[in-house]
Amino acid sequence: MECKDRNCPEHGELSTRGAVLDGLVVSDKMQGTVIVERERLVKVKKYDRYSRRTSRIPAHNPPCVNARQGDRVRIMECRKISKTVNFVVVEKTGSKEAQKPTAEPEVKPKKTTVKTVKKKAKRTAKKEAENG
Ligand SMILES: [Zn+2]
Repeated sequence: MECKDRNCPEHGELSTRGAVLDGLVVSDKMQGTVIVERERLVKVKKYDRYSRRTSRIPAHNPPCVNARQGDRVRIMECRKISKTVNFVVVEKTGSKEAQKPTAEPEVKPKKTTVKTVKKKAKRTAKKEAENG
């Protein structure tokens, strides 16, 4: 596809520098911009488990990349393109479905989240109260 986007890092004049991040496209509703979500794990000392934190980054989506919702993408930092956009999508690294069979060995969080641990603690506390 011919790309006439001047804010395209490959075919336009946009230069990139700084951070290079990977994430998942969670919204493609805007014109030429997508929302990329990144997940990180934060250790919760009290429960010795990990809690998920997400951050959302608006990124410019040039027509030659054309990332859609559910795509895994790599984004690179660039100059500010608008009030909120200072990242640009440079490539798709796969879609959500396609990644399942060849998933990279990531650090996977244990199934027990802080929420469930809290619930459990509450339950046991209640039991103890009942037992005397
Ligand atoms: Zn392009």
